[in-house]
Amino acid sequence: MTEFTYDGLPGRVAFGAGAARTRLLGELDLLGAHRVLVIATDAENGIATALCAPFADRVVATFSEVRPHVPVEVAELARKAAIEAEADVVLSVGGGSTTGTAKAVALTTGLPIVAVPTTYAGSEVTPVWGMTEGGRKTTGTDRRVLPKTVVYDPELTVSLPVELSVASGLNAVAHCVEAFWAPRRSPVSSAVAEDGIRHLVAGLNTIAADPSAQAGRGALLLGAYLAGSAFAVAGSGLHHKICHVLGGAFDLPHAQTHAIVLPHVLAYNLPNAEEAADRIARALGRTDIVEALRELGDGLGAGGGLRELGMDESGIDDVIEDIAAIAPADNPTPVTAQGLQAILHGAWAGSDPTGSTR
Ligand code: NAD
Repeated sequence: MTEFTYDGLPGRVAFGAGAARTRLLGELDLLGAHRVLVIATDAENGIATALCAPFADRVVATFSEVRPHVPVEVAELARKAAIEAEADVVLSVGGGSTTGTAKAVALTTGLPIVAVPTTYAGSEVTPVWGMTEGGRKTTGTDRRVLPKTVVYDPELTVSLPVELSVASGLNAVAHCVEAFWAPRRSPVSSAVAEDGIRHLVAGLNTIAADPSAQAGRGALLLGAYLAGSAFAVAGSGLHHKICHVLGGAFDLPHAQTHAIVLPHVLAYNLPNAEEAADRIARALGRTDIVEALRELGDGLGAGGGLRELGMDESGIDDVIEDIAAIAPADNPTPVTAQGLQAILHGAWAGSDPTGSTR
């Protein structure tokens, strides 16, 4: 008999093609929000400006100095902007870095967030915040940072370059895979994660052939929502711990790092993760799941290793201890320094995960 605790998270979701154009104002009204701080990077600002045009009179400030992994000094600037403008809501329009900056504001001000995601990061449905200081990323969980409302609009993701779409989609696949063995996994999160993989893989294959295909973008965004939801309640496991340390230490791009590391962690855990293997196989329609995932990445042009992202191999030794210190105690395969070395050297070289970790 399975025993579990499932702690569901609140949040309202509006999903649909054109939803950001047609439903965003109504969602702000529902929250009684009249003084909007908009957060968007320069690349996302075109989308944000167009979306805010119907309620431009409510926009009291715009913050665009977003940086990856939310450096603490950026968080401080964004908080200052919110306080000075007397904002009553934070509207984030963008990827995980933008959502993360909005979360940093919510963490200290308590302001509600309305999130309009434009990548497949999934941060918009998690209560997890992250900030970086001196090459070290700190994360925490606080319900104040969980967006009150998420407006998912696949149309907004069409402008995301294919390479980034693929990496971001594979990052979402990583949320699903990891949810099967993460510390707070449950039958609910596992069912959501399995379905998430199905939508993500279908979407990835569709947009690889036609990046502007609405059906593919819709499947990817729905998959990203499911992935983020599973990850939000199941928590992070070995894969996320590794990527978290690598991201902070070497300033690596988040989504690409996840896409590269995932098959290596999967190969490491698989011999001791039967349910995960069954569920992933069902979702992928194949039993050779490490090969299937690697083929998916290669076919989408996301092959290669961390070295292609500019990481120095000599850095691996510096992070083994940090990863081991935060690795979950109940990881399916016990985490050893030797095991981490194999995963990281394999991911760095982009070698065949089945060969490098067995
Ligand atoms: P990102 O937000 O850094 O975006 C990558 C790039 O894409 C940026 O230059 C951005 O301006 C651009 N961009 C975004 N949407 C676009 C669009 N539609 N068209 C054109 N350009 C667009 O990358 P990401 O992968 O979305 O997010 C990564 C960050 O999110 C990391 O810091 C990661 O730790 C965090 N994250 C947090 C959680 C959580 O639960 N707290 C979950 C997932 C990711």
